[in-house]
This record gives sequence, structure tokens and C-alpha cells, in this order.
Amino acid sequence: MTKSPWTEHPTRTLRWRPGDRLDAVDPRATPGYHGGKRAGKRLLAEHGAELSDLQERLFAHGRTGGVRNVLLVLQGMDTSGKGGIVRHVVGMVDPQGVRCRGFGRPTPEEQARGYLWRIRNALPDAGLLGVFDRSHYEQVLVVRVDALEPPATWQAHYDEINDFEAEIADAGTAIVKVVLAISPEEQLERLVSRLDRPDKHWKYDPSDLRAREQWDEYQAAYQDMLDRTSTDVAPWYVVPADRKWFSRLAVGELLRHELRGLDLGWPAADFDVQRQRRLLTGR
Ligand code: AMP
Ligand code: MG
Repeated sequence: MTKSPWTEHPTRTLRWRPGDRLDAVDPRATPGYHGGKRAGKRLLAEHGAELSDLQERLFAHGRTGGVRNVLLVLQGMDTSGKGGIVRHVVGMVDPQGVRCRGFGRPTPEEQARGYLWRIRNALPDAGLLGVFDRSHYEQVLVVRVDALEPPATWQAHYDEINDFEAEIADAGTAIVKVVLAISPEEQLERLVSRLDRPDKHWKYDPSDLRAREQWDEYQAAYQDMLDRTSTDVAPWYVVPADRKWFSRLAVGELLRHELRGLDLGWPAADFDVQRQRRLLTGR
């Protein structure tokens, strides 16, 4: 048996606990992991096979009347690597079993229907792995920082969101919520490199500078979000994200753990296998 490079599993080291401080999180750290970058990349690739197998079980479960599914919620400042998680972690499994949605500024129609409407519409069906690149949590982040709603309105969202998540968890959804914690220094480098590279210009949004200027306000909003909405049915994980290979490895590990926890076997055939074999082969 190969020795695990995890001294402590990310479900323990990264899970948000009451009293935790976001400003105490070191975005360059690799908590619980003592391997290096190369080993980390290799390990993620190795886990891809199991992740893929687990996801196929989930899909089969959904096809045979099962109600379980998984929702991965990704939050983080611009350039924190949300898209990279989708591409490099979620991208390891069969895309037929995945439902990804990104959430930008709401359209007037979405605005009129309330913030949870577009979220409900994007929830994964049974058997699917859903991924939210940003989410309903923007309603207590950008909405708060940019004062898009009066305080009493956005403050009510914490409880509303907890109720909403309890409801979908009850209906069969395993929820994994991840904040990718990046440092302002690393963000600066990533934004500059977007400007340096014409193939990355499409990712650069001049309005990201505004959010960068509001760094401390965002940190405060994230702190309160974590304190108010990390629940037993839908805990938050804060993943150091200055090293992309680590954040991807850690999120892959969190997903693997969650899918394993569903303990899904392969659905039994609802037909007579021996008879079908005889019919097929004439033997
Ligand atoms: P990106 O993730 O780079 O595509 O950017 C999406 C943008 O949409 C970010 O600036 C978010 O802050 C913004 N956004 C997402 N959800 C909301 C929301 N509910 N209200 C206002 N802005 C939002
Ligand atoms: Mg952006």
C-alpha cells in the first residue's frame, strides 16, 4: 500500500469551524499535504479514475430511479481559479453527467423573479454532478459590498439560504461549498498575466479592478458568509488557492470524499441477465 501524502484529510483541515478567521488563512499553504507540486498533480490524475467511477455510479443511480445528486458551489475573488477547478477537476469525469452553471450579473428578468429563481432552475437533476461557478452567495457578497440592496434585505439572505440548502439537501443533494482563498499579491500577478497574454484578454474584465479595490470589504463579507452559512448539511471549505495544483488536488479530494460517502453500488439489473444472454447468443 502506498503511503498517503495527506497527514490530515482536507475534510478536516479545510472545513470552516465557528470562530475561524479568514484573515488567518494562508493562501500559499498546503494544509495536511506534505507532497510537492509534481506529486500533487500526479495524485490528482490518479484520483481521476476513481472520481470518474464514482460519478458514473451516481449517474446510473439517477437513471434507475435514485434521487441523489451532488452540488459543488465555487466562490472566490476574480482569478482565484474557479474556472480551473471546473476544467481540471470536474473535467476528469464524463461531461454527460455534469451540469455546470456560471452566475453573472442577473438579467432584468432574473432580477424580477428573486435571486433564488435562477439558482433553482440550475440545480442538477438526480444522478448529476452540478457545479456553480459563483452562486446564490453573490447575494451576500457583491450585493452587500456594492450596496445593491439595503442591509436589512441582504442580511435576511443568510437564513433564507440556509433554509434553501436544507430543503435541497433533504431532497437528496449532497452539497460541497468551496471558497478559493487567493492573496491580493497572487491576484495581481494573475491579472497582469491576463493583460500580458492576448489569449487571456477575453478573461480580463476592467470592472474586476473595482472588486480588487474593495478587497477588505469583500473579506469582511466572506467572513460573515462563512460564519452564517456553514451548516452541518452544507459546510464550507476554505481552500488555499495561491497554488493552483493544491486547490485542484484539495477540491478533487473533497469531491471524491463526498461521492464515496453516498455509498452507491451499481444498480441491479431489472431483467433476467441469463435469459438475455441466451437470447443474444443463442446459447
Ligand atoms: P465572472 O465570474 O468573471 O463571469 O463575473 C461575474 C460577475 O457577475 C462578477 O462580477 C459577480 O460579482 C457578478 N454577479 C454574480 N452574481 C451577481 C448578483 N447576484 N448580483 C450582482 N452581480 C452578480
Ligand atoms: Mg471575471
